[in-house]
Amino acid sequence: MKTTELYYESAYITEFDATVLSCEAGGDGSFLVVLDRTAFFPEEGGQTCDRGVLTDDHGGTHRVLHVSIRDGIVSHRVGEAISEGTQVHGEIDFGHRFSNMQQHTAEHIFSGIVHSRFGYENVGFHLSDSEVTMDYSGQLTDEQITEAELAVNRAIWADIEVRCTFPSREELAAMDYRSKKELTGAIRIVEIPGYDTCACCAPHVERTGEIGLLKVIRAQNYKGGTRVSILCGERAFVYLSEEHGIVDGLARGFSTSPARVCASVERLQAQLEERKGRVADLQSRLLCYELQEIDADLRSVFLVKEADLDQNTIRKTVNGLAAAHPGFCGIFAGDAKTGYHYIIASGTEGGDAKNLQRILSEEFGAKGGGSSQMIQGSFACGDIRLVTERCGAF
Ligand SMILES: [Zn+2]
Repeated sequence: MKTTELYYESAYITEFDATVLSCEAGGDGSFLVVLDRTAFFPEEGGQTCDRGVLTDDHGGTHRVLHVSIRDGIVSHRVGEAISEGTQVHGEIDFGHRFSNMQQHTAEHIFSGIVHSRFGYENVGFHLSDSEVTMDYSGQLTDEQITEAELAVNRAIWADIEVRCTFPSREELAAMDYRSKKELTGAIRIVEIPGYDTCACCAPHVERTGEIGLLKVIRAQNYKGGTRVSILCGERAFVYLSEEHGIVDGLARGFSTSPARVCASVERLQAQLEERKGRVADLQSRLLCYELQEIDADLRSVFLVKEADLDQNTIRKTVNGLAAAHPGFCGIFAGDAKTGYHYIIASGTEGGDAKNLQRILSEEFGAKGGGSSQMIQGSFACGDIRLVTERCGAF
């Protein structure tokens, strides 16, 4: 016997009385309870199931862990067995359900608008407790998404009645409606006049005004089409409140208005780039003075510099030193805490720098490589003097 689905009588039924028709082990220590009637909407069509509790006639409460449907029979997964024939009182978590109704009804309006204005089909829908995504068969531009978003919100504010019906076969034949798959059996049509007509089995709000607000969070290319993420009702409100808090905090940090935060960040980035250039220039000038002090008769030269020394400056300096000294010349940039990176070149006598790489790898755990003329790499080291002494003696 098929379960009487009370959510088709009304999406607003939150409590009901029912009789346990069967109770079977669910495989993982849980039990699957079938009732003669239920207001618990199962996981179906990309939407998570209802939550809530079943209270038996001895006052025992059973949290409903999951709800599924098969061949018209709805199963409620609970932690303990409830014997056949027991009278139960069911209560669904209506906060959770109402949020699902809001997200789901808004999806219909959005998909109806995308279909009528841009000609794309809704080919996927996912409604979890944290995310709502809709997939469309074509690529929507940012402008089209913004247009659809505003149009959905206007439909919400117009507070239109949402009609759910089971039309006859003849009525259906004369009807133009969206459907993701070929349907059999009784077909439920959800109509939002002026916006959408779609075959759907899920609970929806009675009037669009109950959705409150729709906000598009993200859009991305997906399987040749577009995946649009939305939030509606309280979920949208909470999301926007959090974002407002972040922007407000940034604005206070920059001593500016929220509208000017982006400009302030851009200015800060430009300043940082300019400073980086200046620091590199100063480091390179300082290095020139240092190089003038180096004894020209030294066979090899190894310098230890700050971690932020510009890579081009290091390379240029190492090449300059290698052209003036016969052994090996290199720079180790870094510090004892974060480790060092290095560039070493072979001097005028043309020794094989790869031999030095082998010593650095074997004795100091360096990771790197290169040619016989030049090697580069990095390693962690507490005492860099040991390394420079070893390299200098090579
Ligand atoms: Zn629906």
